[in-house]
Amino acid sequence: MRIPLIAANWKMHMTTAETREYITEFLPLVEGVNDVEIVLAPPFTSLAVAAKFLKGSNVKLAAQNVFWEEKGAYTGEISPQMLKDVECSYVIIGHSERRQYFGETDETVNKKIGAAVATGLGVIFCIGETLEEREAGKTFDVLKKQLTGGLRDRKIDGLVIAYEPVWAIGTGKTATPEQAQEAHEFIRNELRSLYGDVSESIRILYGGSVKPENIATLMAQRDVDGGLVGGASLKPDSFSRIVKFKETQGG
Ligand code: PEP
Repeated sequence: MRIPLIAANWKMHMTTAETREYITEFLPLVEGVNDVEIVLAPPFTSLAVAAKFLKGSNVKLAAQNVFWEEKGAYTGEISPQMLKDVECSYVIIGHSERRQYFGETDETVNKKIGAAVATGLGVIFCIGETLEEREAGKTFDVLKKQLTGGLRDRKIDGLVIAYEPVWAIGTGKTATPEQAQEAHEFIRNELRSLYGDVSESIRILYGGSVKPENIATLMAQRDVDGGLVGGASLKPDSFSRIVKFKETQGG
């Protein structure tokens, strides 16, 4: 059985004071939710304060990026060991904004995944096609290339995949539940051909304009195992309603 995972990607939002306020308001809203893994990914500057306020709670911490070296002359970078040091359980790797604005490639993503897994961090590995690629009928080719490139020679301990169609991120356009299921099923089949039956245990999250209003129908799809949420995760109330999607499902 795959335990649903719902992760908040705060991107470049929240000061340390705002982080503390958010967590203080959020934790009581999700108290007792133990059948969904809840993850917050604040910016690097808020990780330590978030770790302090999340201690002992049912909410885990993630970073939004990582470098692959352990230490050294890499100005501005953060190592997997440093993320462990501030009690991160997960790290998001290969987000489309990093691919688009910061030159991240399948090769750099692959190195980051290797270093993160070797350090014992769970990885939320993002893949997804652009609108142009979808309209050209290349969605599956793109997903296959990103998956095989990112995972080449990699162990998949603690791996979570996030399918995030680029055209749905921050645009208010959500993939239909059928489009999401089709892509997730394709991804699971590819994982099966790369890793065998263990693919059944890998969680595949959907990301792209997830909201309290659409999470339940997305989660009802067989291969959708959770969500990676940007905009709608910035308010504790809205994110808590996404986390508690089972209540809206009546389940
Ligand atoms: C994201 O950043 O991963 C994301 C899915 O953003 P949004 O929910 O705002 O589309």
